[in-house]
Amino acid sequence: MKTAYNHWATLTQEIKDSGLWKTERVITTPQGAKIDTDKNSGLINMCANNYLGLSNNDEIKAAAKAGIDRWGYGLSSVRFICGTQELHKNLEAKLSEFLGTEDTILYSSCYDANGGLFETILTADDAIISDELNHASIIDGVRLCKAKRYKYKNNNMEELENCLKDAQESGCRIKAIVTDGVFSMDGTIANLVAVCDLADKYDAIVIVDDSHGVGVIGDGLRGAHEHCGVIERIDVLTGTLGKALGGSSGGYTSGKKAIIDILRQRSRTYLFSNSLSPIIASASLTVLDMISNSNDLSTCLKENTAYFRKGLKEIGYDIIDGTHPIVPIMTYDEIASQKLAEKMLEKNVYVIGFFFPVVQRGKARVRTQVSAAHTKEQLDYVLNAFKEAKQELGI
Ligand SMILES: *Cc1c(COP(=O)(O)O)cnc(C)c1O
Repeated sequence: MKTAYNHWATLTQEIKDSGLWKTERVITTPQGAKIDTDKNSGLINMCANNYLGLSNNDEIKAAAKAGIDRWGYGLSSVRFICGTQELHKNLEAKLSEFLGTEDTILYSSCYDANGGLFETILTADDAIISDELNHASIIDGVRLCKAKRYKYKNNNMEELENCLKDAQESGCRIKAIVTDGVFSMDGTIANLVAVCDLADKYDAIVIVDDSHGVGVIGDGLRGAHEHCGVIERIDVLTGTLGKALGGSSGGYTSGKKAIIDILRQRSRTYLFSNSLSPIIASASLTVLDMISNSNDLSTCLKENTAYFRKGLKEIGYDIIDGTHPIVPIMTYDEIASQKLAEKMLEKNVYVIGFFFPVVQRGKARVRTQVSAAHTKEQLDYVLNAFKEAKQELGI
């Protein structure tokens, strides 16, 4: 055997021995509040990012089909060669309008949006100041960039200010603060008012990845910047079309025109990767219409979230407080998180335990996610199952 394969065999065994080997459940239905897998049927799904329940929505599917009929299946090109249709320009304009920004550029994913952002707009003369809980795609995007790096404790404004001071004293030219809008493991929201205040004080720009915020929070579902009342103060927003906004795939970077213009010229994940499929672009336009024209989904999601959070507390679970549909149930112990998830699966509720390295050691949890697609009966069923699981496991 070649040396390389010996190495990977050892690595595989190490992961398995530590109990961290992940297996994928195979779903045999469309995504939804209730799903089947190849092993279980009729599972209530509490772990999708399907916040608005649009993953299998009839109107959205019709828009996707209409998109394919009118614009074809794919572009076989990157945007700047022959991959830009009116559809893409329309979606970029509509996203800008929805988010309250000057301009928007589409990517194949938010991972790519973050991957193509930092090195394009910052150099070794600059500084990036990043929240410790930021998403992997931000971390990787930052790795590609030569700017000086700072990291601050989650939502800790004192540490953020210290980093800004240091960057200023070190003579860094551009100072860029980057944070998730909603922290995906905790369901907590970045303190964007304080972040923007500090950015003003130290002449920094603010970059927010709002993948779990857009379509989820804010009166108009615009996201964390709307929720915090700082729509005009954010320089760059990145986000995904793969969560609340339809759940297929695709991402974007939106914000000040001066920045978007440069990304269109220089961002490598944009220039060297294919155009978003017309199927997704067409459906996304309908998603934005749908949530701009009616509050029904928003109201339903907010009611379901409040109901579920209250229910879990009444049962006596230790949850991270907040208003977001991400509701982490803390077990702290690694094994306990696995046991609780397994017990819930026996009761036909699909949840996932998260533990190191996805979250810090000793901070294991079962992360639940509420959707507008859940009925009250389904949420009651889930709450009752959690109540039984608590008694049966003695937690
Ligand atoms: C999900 C997520 C991403 C990745 O989005 P994709 O479009 O699936 O690549 C990026 N950032 C954050 C904060 C996310 O939660």
